[in-house]
Amino acid sequence: MRTILNAQMGTALNKQVNAEMWSAYLYLSMSYDMKIKGFPGMANWFAAQAKEEFEHAQRIMSFIVAADGKVKLEPIAEVQQEWNSPKDAFADTLMHEKIVTEKIHELMDMAVEAKDYATQNMLNWFINEQVEEEDTARELLAALEAIEGDKAAMYMFDSKLGKRE
Ligand code: MG
Repeated sequence: MRTILNAQMGTALNKQVNAEMWSAYLYLSMSYDMKIKGFPGMANWFAAQAKEEFEHAQRIMSFIVAADGKVKLEPIAEVQQEWNSPKDAFADTLMHEKIVTEKIHELMDMAVEAKDYATQNMLNWFINEQVEEEDTARELLAALEAIEGDKAAMYMFDSKLGKRE
């Protein structure tokens, strides 16, 4: 009888765990940079985003273990420490989420090819999540582009993002 995860799939999922942890690092870095730059609301938003990424990693790890695979935690690569502006941070957020979407789609391709139905099911959640992630990042970036240079509007925008839990 074949196992749920083949070796290649197991390795690829562990790689995705690392990518999600790296995402958490990236957003944590943005969070503190926004805090330093005087945008506590955006700092809050990125901190919540980082927490979500950590949960994504945990979701995949739980699946790997449940599917009788082995979790392998690799070192997390360094992330950028500073952004020129909130707009730059959100532009990077959108770009990063597009890359993550691609990675998830590649994993799905692999799972389909391997006829690994359990992994396909697990990945469906991530496919939906990425649509949300890109949509949110696009929306916030568009808002920042619209209010660029307007300090009062920036203050309002920051306050709004401070409400994310
Ligand atoms: Mg994620």
